[in-house]
Amino acid sequence: MASAEIDVGAGQAPDHPDRHSGRLGDRYAISFRRQFLVVTVCLLAVNLMIGLFARHQQRAIIDYAVNVYDTAFISTNYVSLAQIAFQHYVDEQSRAIGPDQASKANELLETVLDDIDVAIERSSSHLTRTEGLELRTNISELLKLGGDSPELRSLTDDVQQKLERLHQNNSAIGLQARDDIEAFSYRSDLLLLASTLTSIMLAGLVLLVTHRMIRSLNQRSSDRLYAALEGMPQGLSMFDDKQRLIICNAEFGAMYGLRAGLIEPGTPLRAILEHRMENGTAAINAENFVEEELASASQPTAIALEHQLQDGRTIALTKAPLSTGGAVTIHMDVTEKRNSEKQIAFLAHHDALTGLANRVQLREHIDKILEKVRRGGTASVLCLDLDNFKIINDTLGHSVGDALLCAVSKRVRDLVRDRDLVSRTGGDEFSIVQFGTEPPMEASAALATRIVEALSAPFELGDHHVVIGASVGIAIAPDDGDSADQLLKNADMALYRSKEEGRGRFHFFEPEMDIKAQTRRVLELDLRSAIAAGEFEVFYQPIVNLAENRITGFEALLRWNHPTRGRVAPNDFIPLAEETGLIGAIGEWVIRQACAEARRWPSDTRVAVNVSPVQFRNKTLVLAVVSALAASGLRPDLLELEITETVLMNNNEATLAALHQLRALGVRISMDDFGTGYSSLSYLRSFPFDKIKIDQSFVRDLSERPDSIAIIRAVAGLGQSFGMTTTAEGVETQEQLDQMRAEGCSEVQGYFYSRPVPASEIAQLLIGFQERVQAAA
Ligand code: C2E
Ligand code: MG
Ligand code: MG
Repeated sequence: MASAEIDVGAGQAPDHPDRHSGRLGDRYAISFRRQFLVVTVCLLAVNLMIGLFARHQQRAIIDYAVNVYDTAFISTNYVSLAQIAFQHYVDEQSRAIGPDQASKANELLETVLDDIDVAIERSSSHLTRTEGLELRTNISELLKLGGDSPELRSLTDDVQQKLERLHQNNSAIGLQARDDIEAFSYRSDLLLLASTLTSIMLAGLVLLVTHRMIRSLNQRSSDRLYAALEGMPQGLSMFDDKQRLIICNAEFGAMYGLRAGLIEPGTPLRAILEHRMENGTAAINAENFVEEELASASQPTAIALEHQLQDGRTIALTKAPLSTGGAVTIHMDVTEKRNSEKQIAFLAHHDALTGLANRVQLREHIDKILEKVRRGGTASVLCLDLDNFKIINDTLGHSVGDALLCAVSKRVRDLVRDRDLVSRTGGDEFSIVQFGTEPPMEASAALATRIVEALSAPFELGDHHVVIGASVGIAIAPDDGDSADQLLKNADMALYRSKEEGRGRFHFFEPEMDIKAQTRRVLELDLRSAIAAGEFEVFYQPIVNLAENRITGFEALLRWNHPTRGRVAPNDFIPLAEETGLIGAIGEWVIRQACAEARRWPSDTRVAVNVSPVQFRNKTLVLAVVSALAASGLRPDLLELEITETVLMNNNEATLAALHQLRALGVRISMDDFGTGYSSLSYLRSFPFDKIKIDQSFVRDLSERPDSIAIIRAVAGLGQSFGMTTTAEGVETQEQLDQMRAEGCSEVQGYFYSRPVPASEIAQLLIGFQERVQAAA
C-alpha cells in the first residue's frame, strides 16, 4: 500500500482501470502462472537430478578410491614383499646344498605364497587376481620340483617375471586411478556448475514472480485508490511539505473552477489560491486570502473549519496533517445544508406568513431584555388584537385575511423603532417589545395610540376595502412581571380589558385584573360542573301580542343557581360558556327544557329560545332541535329560535343552510337585539326572519333620544311590509307600552308585564294576566 502511494505520488497518470481488470488481463495472468509453474517444476526436477547424480558419482568414486587404494598400495606392497621373499628363495635355492637346505628354501616359498594370497585378496584388479592365481600355481609347482634342475630355473625366472609384471600392473592401476579422479573432479565441477545455474534460474524466477505480484498489487491498489477518489462526493487534495500538489480528485478541481493545468501533481498551492482569487472562489472573510491560506497549510495541525466563498457557497474543510509533512484536506460543499439549516432556524423563530418574529423568538427576546432590565432600565410588552378580523376572514376568505395580516404587520413595523421586536403570536394577535423607554408608560401609551389609529385606517386589499381596528394591552417590566410568561399574561389581561371596554383602545395592566382573571378561572371550573350538578334553571318571560292583548308566548331565559354566588345572570356566564365551548351542551339542555315546558302550556303558546353563534359553529344545532321537538312532542311552529346578528356575521353559508333547515322543519326564527349590530338591515335581507325583536336600548332611550322613536317606527314599518312580527323588548312603563302600540309594534316584552319567572309560576302568571285584561276591559 505504501508503495502504491509512492507510485501515485510520483504523478503517474493512472491507466484506465478497465484495462487492468479486463478479461485479457485475466487470461494473461493465468497463462503466466501456468508457464511459471511448468518452468519451476522443470528446473526443480533438473536440479534434483543433478543433485542425485552428483551424490551417486561421489559414492562411486569413494568405492573406487578404496579399491584403488587396496590394489595400488596394499596389494602392490604385498607383491613387493612376495618379490623380496622370492628373491630370498632364489638366493637360498642357489646356495642350498643338500635336501635340508633345499627344504629350508622352500619354506620361503610359503612366505611368498602367503604374500601373494594377501595381494590377490586386497586387489580389485581382475588381471592382478588372474595373474596372482597363476603365480600361485607356478610357485606350488616350484615346491614340487626339487634340486637344481633346468625346469626349476626356468620356472623361477618365469615366476620372477610374473611377479614383476604383477607389480607393474598394480602400479599402473594407481596411475590410472589418479587420471580417473581428475576426470571425476572435472565432471563434479560441471555438475556443480549446472546445479548452480538451475538454482540461479529458480531464484530468478521467484524474483520475477515476486516482482510481478508486487506490481500487480500496486496497480490494483492504485486503481482502487483512484476509483475511490473519483467516486467521492467531496473534493480531496493532498499537498506535500513544500506545498505542492501531490494528488487531488476531479471534484476538487470542479469545486474551485480549476483548469486542467492546476490539478497536475506538483502544482504549487499558491498558484491554486491565486487562481481562486481571480475566479471568485476565495473565502469571503479573509483579508489576505492567499497568504492566510499558505500560513494555515504550513501548520502541522488538524483543522476543521468552514469557508464562505465569494460566489455564495459554503465549503467545509477538514485538514489532517501527513506524517511526511504536508496535509490531506477534504472539501465538502455544505451550502444547501447550511441554507436549509438557516431556513429551519428562521422558520423556528419567525411567522411564515408575515415574516415577523414568532412566539418562540418573542419569549427568547423578552428573556434577553429582562436581563438588561435587571441591570437597570425598563421595557414594555404590548399585546394587540385585531377587532373584527374573524369576520373579514370568514366572509372575504382566507387569502384576503392573509393579505390583511401582512398589511397590518407592515403598518405596525413602520411604527416601531428598529430595536423594538414585533411578533405575531396567534391568528390576529401581535406583540411588541419596547426596551429602554424612559418613562415607559408614556412611550408605550404613545405607541399604542399610534397603533390603534394606524390600524383603524381602511386597508385596500385588491378589490376589497376593509376596515378593522385594534385593541392593545400593555405590561411594563419589571413592575408587571419579571418573566416572559408573566409579562405576556398580564399584557393579555390588559388587552382583554380593552376589548371589554369596547375595543379600539389600549389599557395598562392593573393588579386587580389578575384577581378578576383568577375569579373567571374559578367560575369556569364551576360552570363545567353546573349541568351535572343541576344548577341551571330556565325562567320564562311572557311576550304579549298588543292587538290581541294576550300572552302569545314566553322567552326562555337561563339562570344559574350557584351554591355560593347565588343566582348568576346569563350575561355573567354565557360569554364564558361561549369561550370555553360549554355553551353547546348548555344550549341543548335549554332547548330540551323549554320544549318540554311549552308542551304543558295552553295551545298556541310559543316558546322562544336564545341560540348562541357558537352553537351554529358546532353544526349539531339542527339535530339538537329535532331531538328536543321529538322528545317533547311540541309542534315545531311553537318553537322560536332567537339569533343575534353576530350569528350571520360568522360563517355565512353554513349558518344560512342551518337556518333554512330549521325553517323547513317549521321552527320560527327571530332576529334578537335588532339595531345593536354592524349592518342590521343587510342581515334582514339575507334571511326571511319571522320576527324582529327591537333591542331594549331603543325603548329605554325613548324619552331622551328622539331618534330612537324614529328607529322603532322604521323597524315596525319594515316588519309590516315584510310580513314580520315586531317585538319591542324592555318595556317597563305604561308610557313605553303606549308608544310601542302607537308605532305599530306587534308585540312587547318587559318588566311592565312580568319579569322572567320560574316555570312553576307560569300558570299563576297566565291567570293573573287574564284577570288584569278582564279588569281593564
Ligand atoms: P335577550 O335575549 O335580549 O333577553 C332579554 C333580556 O332582557 C333578559 O335578560 C331579560 O331578563 C331582560 N329584560 C326583559 N325585560 C326587561 C325590562 O323590561 N327591562 C330590563 N332592563 N331588562 C329586561 P337576561 O335574562 O339577563 O338575559 C340576558 C341575555 O342573555 C339575553 O338577552 C340573551 O341574549 C342571553 N341569554 C339568556 N338565556 C340564554 C340562553 O339560554 N341561551 C343563550 N344563548 N343566551 C341566553
Ligand atoms: Mg332573546
Ligand atoms: Mg334581546
